[in-house]
Amino acid sequence: GSVIGILGGGQLGRMLGVAAAQLGYRTHVYVPEATGPAADCCSFWTQGAYEDAAALGAFADAVDVLTYEFENVDSGAIETLAGHGVVRPPVDALRIAQDRLREKHYVTGLGGRTAPFAAVNSIDDLTAALEKIGTPSILKTNRFGYDGKGQVRIGEGADAAAAWDAVGQVPSILEGFVTFDQEFSVILVRGGDGDVRFWDSPANVHVDGILATSTVPAGPAIAAQVEEARAMARKVAEALDYVGVLTLEFFAGAAGPVFNEMAPRVHNSGHWTIEGAITSQFENHIRAICGLPLGDTGLAARGVEMRNLIGADAHAWRDLLADPVNHLHLYGKHEARAGRKMGHVTRLEL
Ligand code: ATP
Ligand code: MG
Ligand code: MG
Repeated sequence: GSVIGILGGGQLGRMLGVAAAQLGYRTHVYVPEATGPAADCCSFWTQGAYEDAAALGAFADAVDVLTYEFENVDSGAIETLAGHGVVRPPVDALRIAQDRLREKHYVTGLGGRTAPFAAVNSIDDLTAALEKIGTPSILKTNRFGYDGKGQVRIGEGADAAAAWDAVGQVPSILEGFVTFDQEFSVILVRGGDGDVRFWDSPANVHVDGILATSTVPAGPAIAAQVEEARAMARKVAEALDYVGVLTLEFFAGAAGPVFNEMAPRVHNSGHWTIEGAITSQFENHIRAICGLPLGDTGLAARGVEMRNLIGADAHAWRDLLADPVNHLHLYGKHEARAGRKMGHVTRLEL
């Protein structure tokens, strides 16, 4: 059987490994850590640095197709992989999506709406950007941020120097604070033949910068904006000749969908698709990168709610199982640190 190489070994790799196994593929994970959530659900594990071109090359040569579950890799690592085999989604998607400034330029270049933004590479840039954009605003590092890390909110009269220090004085972006009632994501899959399918867009609720719940159907305010947001996401996918699952996050703003960020991969706001859709995001990602026909993305229930189990929340998992309509997913992480995604629970409304 064929082997799928996955860069990154977290819970997304774990769930990709399960989907791949169901289709008869084996998975080989490459990651700097000795172990991780994907370790229980993959066939091969190589511990290696992303900077180690020789080890990465040997890994790429040992697999039939390459994908990634994590976009914060050194772009050099991806160039190395691309020199050895087929990387799906395409390397350009990763280059763009791993940099907030690049992704905002890319989406505005295709006609998308974003928060007002400015590049910040120094305290002087920040002062100028604050004059232009005003407060409230958010300073975010261009790279390596997730779950709200690497961000600082700047209110009226706040100290610019303190904000610049708080993000670590690294290349960043200042974004105007968008007023919105709700957030949602567009999750699509594009096959090697250009077939594009969308899952229902979930309403996403974040608490302290971390996704708390994703719910479908999302309700009328979001439903009214999904068509425009999908058209935007399709443009991005087609412009990149994308293959695999692609996620774009949006705010439902007063004037229409406001693009926040994109992920060139399966996404936390799509975990509900495992039980809640006819074909999950994980299965369709595997199908797409392996050149198989895509599965139906339609709903398998009247409604679905996915709730993340964060930090100590995961301790209550026995109680969750007491309700028979709950589907529990635990990621095999041993240490329940605050703010850490330990698992999720999906509830179907039949
Ligand atoms: P993820 O874990 O989704 O990758 P992240 O760390 O990349 O998160 P963002 O998605 O940029 O962070 O921001 C996290 C959340 O903070 C958003 O989902 C939204 O609730 C809020 N937020 C971010 N940017 C803005 C903005 N410009 N205006 C208003 N709210 C914002
Ligand atoms: Mg992000
Ligand atoms: Mg986000």
